[in-house]
Amino acid sequence: MSISDCPLLPVVGGELSVPLQGGGEARAVNLDYAASAPALESVATHLSEVLPYYSSVHRGAGYASQVSTAAYEHARDIVGGFVGARVGDAVVFTRNTTDALGLLASAVPGETVLLDIEHHANLLPWSAEGGRGARVVQAGQTIAETLLLVEAELQARPAALLTVTGASNVTGETLPLRRLATIAHRHGARLAVDGAQLVPHRRVDLAFDGVDYLAFSGHKTYAPFGAGVLVGRRDWLDAAPPYLRGGGAVTSVTLDGAAWRLGPARHEAGSPNVLGVVALARAIQAIDALDDAEWHDHESALRERLLTGLEALPRVHVNRIFSDSVDPVGVVSFHIDGLDARLAALVLSAEWGIAVRDGRFCAHPLLERIGQGKAAVRASFGLGSSTADVDALLHALSELLENGP
Ligand code: PLP
Repeated sequence: MSISDCPLLPVVGGELSVPLQGGGEARAVNLDYAASAPALESVATHLSEVLPYYSSVHRGAGYASQVSTAAYEHARDIVGGFVGARVGDAVVFTRNTTDALGLLASAVPGETVLLDIEHHANLLPWSAEGGRGARVVQAGQTIAETLLLVEAELQARPAALLTVTGASNVTGETLPLRRLATIAHRHGARLAVDGAQLVPHRRVDLAFDGVDYLAFSGHKTYAPFGAGVLVGRRDWLDAAPPYLRGGGAVTSVTLDGAAWRLGPARHEAGSPNVLGVVALARAIQAIDALDDAEWHDHESALRERLLTGLEALPRVHVNRIFSDSVDPVGVVSFHIDGLDARLAALVLSAEWGIAVRDGRFCAHPLLERIGQGKAAVRASFGLGSSTADVDALLHALSELLENGP
């Protein structure tokens, strides 16, 4: 399937007009996919088809309940298949990536090693207060050096888990998952990947890459808010305390205690987000049908165009973690000398109709490292983005730099 067969909902991603501060309107330019990507039209259509069968799952005997239950469980198969889950892997539905990583942190039977470049969602659950102990490795100047540092840490002291971001939400740089998996396994650790920014841009294959756990969010993967997923090896999850305690996670309950289920149900107590999960699965089916080369080339060309334009602007510094990064995704952040990131983002919105993100992107240690802790501006894009979007940003920035805010 071609990208043009995958339209985004007009209200959030397409031909929306937004009012400008000085009067008039502009075409809305959405360069904030990394925060939440627009939903696909096919997802909205599918939701309207399943809504008539709106009913509880795993509970009712009625027809609608059976349809909803089948759709919910089918979504599990779709997600597992899409990410190359192994036979026996668990696909646990959660609220989002943060929730999925929190679930994994509650199940890890030992210490975790992580990098200092992580989003807070892959930093805080493992910390001394939340997890069983995290050891933070400072990433090197290059990926090659970083791999050596990770290996040295795992060699020096065993750990149960190595957890890394698949793609940085600040720079879009990706990490070599197969090589990290080999290193982790060589030292008896498992590899978890925060796939929040990777899955919307690249195929991940757990079995092929040797990734033991993968977490990602529906709302960054062209579905609406509310559903995320943790996929991976079942044994730790089956041995862990139930993440949520309540109906659906138990086989029997007395006033003295409960017999907890195994498998995904153990961690999915309560009425689940059926529509969120069904939407996530439909979005994944659409991505799965894309032509890989077209998908990749579309985003890479936009990234190259944006980088070339940014690097030609005075006072603009593009953020990078590694000097040898390979195959980064559609996320680019930059600092502007002498211009506050918040002010720049507000002017881009108010005067040009361009939506970007500003701040420290829930990655404070990384921003400390690459920008002395100062907020940056981030442009991120995906399936619905065009060269016109990138050019609009570059034009607005050059005007802003020339004339001031
Ligand atoms: N990990 C990364 C790399 C992210 O970019 C984000 C969100 O921006 C998260 C985790 C958290 O995702 P969510 O807010 O969907 O839990």
